[in-house]
Amino acid sequence: MSGQLRYDGQVVVVTGAGGGLGKAYATFFASRGASVVVNDLGGSFKGEGNSTKAADVVVNEIKAAGGKAVANYDSVENGDRIIDTAIKAFGRIDILINNAGILRDVSFKNMKDEDWDLIIKVHVKGSYKCARAAWPYFRKQKYGRIINTASAAGLFGNFGQANYSAAKLAMVGFTETLAKEGVKYNIISNVIAPIAASRMTETVMPPDMLALMKPEWVVPLVAVLVHKNNTSENGSIFEVGGGHIAKLRWERSSGQLLKCDDTYTPGAVLKKWNQVCDFSKPQYPSGPNDFLALLEDSMKMGP
Ligand code: NAD
Repeated sequence: MSGQLRYDGQVVVVTGAGGGLGKAYATFFASRGASVVVNDLGGSFKGEGNSTKAADVVVNEIKAAGGKAVANYDSVENGDRIIDTAIKAFGRIDILINNAGILRDVSFKNMKDEDWDLIIKVHVKGSYKCARAAWPYFRKQKYGRIINTASAAGLFGNFGQANYSAAKLAMVGFTETLAKEGVKYNIISNVIAPIAASRMTETVMPPDMLALMKPEWVVPLVAVLVHKNNTSENGSIFEVGGGHIAKLRWERSSGQLLKCDDTYTPGAVLKKWNQVCDFSKPQYPSGPNDFLALLEDSMKMGP
């Protein structure tokens, strides 16, 4: 892949495209020849209220620059309506960017069911609903590209974000499975943990740091991952922001096989604790069968 990547004739759905990262994706893809569905519920960053303004402003901006875009004001919980907008307006869907998101930060001690449920609904159910509605089109045309949006809070945990962390790590598992199920239909799914200045981060990051974190600087990675030439990165996890891009993967210690008889006690586990946690010979598993294979290998060798 070199030269200018273009998306002519392709249809891109960007959820939460009324501001922040979503707006940056939408305007970019429109400027590179794609027709874009600009979805945004238009509420607050805590998920309160709704308005048509956020999506309309972006659509007008794209059109004024000579691009093609339509607005959709549904919540991502009604992902089927968002995908319908793409089909009705442009006749197809090629790329889905699950980006919409909100925050309900509160310490776990003070977290209410409503804080938990709303975050799971918007991030997890919303991403599922959009992908589920796009999936039959992707399979039929043997082509599709999906980006799901995780967060460092999901990968590593973060104070005050138990709900958001759970939802964001769910995006990783979701992506990994879509990547496996989609690959034979040329449906490629990847997940990013971005960092960017937006209304979500403007209250928690200092202005000098925000200046280094333009949403536009997340776009090039996403552009590469959803391009038709990308057939190699599938089910990959990236952290991206401020111009830095890094890939993440699971690392497993080489571990310890214990004999499964009456010597397999908590004390026996404690005795082998150093080996259980020994990362000096790491493994990089990519599926549930890796562990079973490991078990078979270890059994052959004996404890
Ligand atoms: P943002 O608040 O600027 O953008 C999110 C957009 O989603 C908003 O325009 C909002 O109206 C829209 N939205 C919210 N709920 C919706 C719903 N139910 N249906 C449709 N639209 C809805 O925030 P952002 O920083 O651009 O965040 C974009 C994504 O990136 C989010 O998923 C966020 O969790 C994730 N993220 C951002 C950062 C960061 O540093 N900005 C870090 C990690 C993850």
